Amino acid sequence: MQLPDIEHMSSAEKNWFASSIAGMIVADGRADETELEFLKEAINFLDNKDEISKIMAIVKSGTLPELGPLEIDSKQAFLMLKYLAQLMVADSDLSSKEIEFFLLTGKFLGFSNGILSKFWKSARSLLERDLPQGMIQTGKLNVKVILTNVDESGFTFRLNKPLMPKVKIMLQVSKSHQSVDQSESEEEFWMVIACKMFNQRQLKYDDGCYMVRATFEQKIAFEHGVLQILDPENYAVVSKGGYIETKKNSLHGSNLHCYICDNPEVPFYVLQSKSMKTKSNIFGIPSYIDSAGALDFCNYSLIDVASCPKCGFSSNHKDDFKRLETDKPHFDSEKFSKEWSDKVAPLLKKAQDSGEKYFGEERDIEQGLLSYDLAAATFEHLANVETDVRLKREAIRRKASMLMVQSELLMENEDRDHAEANLKKVVEDLESIFESLESPVILHVCVLLFQIKIYFNDLQSAAQYMKFMDNYDTEGKLEEGTEEYKELNVNSAKIKATFDDREILTKENLKHFHLDDDE
Ligand SMILES: [Zn+2]
Repeated sequence: MQLPDIEHMSSAEKNWFASSIAGMIVADGRADETELEFLKEAINFLDNKDEISKIMAIVKSGTLPELGPLEIDSKQAFLMLKYLAQLMVADSDLSSKEIEFFLLTGKFLGFSNGILSKFWKSARSLLERDLPQGMIQTGKLNVKVILTNVDESGFTFRLNKPLMPKVKIMLQVSKSHQSVDQSESEEEFWMVIACKMFNQRQLKYDDGCYMVRATFEQKIAFEHGVLQILDPENYAVVSKGGYIETKKNSLHGSNLHCYICDNPEVPFYVLQSKSMKTKSNIFGIPSYIDSAGALDFCNYSLIDVASCPKCGFSSNHKDDFKRLETDKPHFDSEKFSKEWSDKVAPLLKKAQDSGEKYFGEERDIEQGLLSYDLAAATFEHLANVETDVRLKREAIRRKASMLMVQSELLMENEDRDHAEANLKKVVEDLESIFESLESPVILHVCVLLFQIKIYFNDLQSAAQYMKFMDNYDTEGKLEEGTEEYKELNVNSAKIKATFDDREILTKENLKHFHLDDDE
């Protein structure tokens, strides 16, 4: 951010400017991380220690500085004002207190109300540029608005006139709020959703404008575009690939881009959160039992792994694929490509032979099992080509996780030998990296290894993992309330529970990886 020409400011001018920066930081009643970066900059250009401690005192006490009119070169004044305007929106929020302080400092610098008003409004539009937008239709009014404070119950927007209490409002969320270069005429919208005016308040420095809160009058669904605002991570797509129409209303599908072969159409399905009832097996692997509400049932385990139809690269994580044009792979995709096609060829051929059934949303059990073979092969290859030891371990761990899910599917498909072979492979892989894992992963892996050892009646070997957990914090160094402390408690309890039930959690006693009495 461009500072005014500090070099040519007098000591008094610098001090005035630094005080105004401190004032803007505390104006909204709290100092934000980004705002404090500005403060560091301001302190750097001050001449002496007294001035610095005066500025720090302003921020600490949170009281506004006492400023008076400043006579300064108009170009400098303009740059100072511009700087303050940017600082005003630095915390991604614009409160009326901040506007009030901005207007005050601006007046001291000799600017008219008209100019100041233009200034903060353009700072506000900068702030609002990335916010979701929508068309509002109520009565004869049809207007584009910025959507703020969107949650499951409703949203807030600014309007240049008041609305009747409880009036019906129809909202159409714009599809394109993230893509900048779209002309008005091409703009696409989601399906209309019926809403109702809830309340409104007049805006202080924005004459005749109101902040209106509206509540949703119908259940928000995928086609309204609201879920996409609430949970962007789950809905982000590469603009080229776009969405996939799904048959099941519990799924969202989108085409992702493959880093390995540049194929822009890797179908990836996400399950709507909390839409299914799940049950965890004795190793903590969930299986999908039933729909939790009105949405279509989906055995998501079968389609969790997405595979590139061209090169077979497979993963259950969106991050392993390219979603936005600016995304870069977090692994060496060139190195990965070497020898990959030879390695994956037999598995990929099987997937390609199943065609649409494998790459769609309705895999059968055989295809589901195949998807985990592909994912395990992907992570194994990733581990082999990775040179960073931490990332290598992570790839091995993810391969183990794929084998665990597959073992549950295998067991339910009455292929016990294969399921147990998976468990043994998992032990082998995880034991090779166990020592070097970090918390909290090491605690999770410790529990899993313990559970598998108990399952195979290998008590002697199991004991060492119990010991590891017991000795994890013998000196009580972990601070109560920290994440690691909580993780240790939870995982210690899991080990203890497994130990208490060690007689029934064995291969001999179990027909599958579930205790039948909790069915
Ligand atoms: Zn590919």
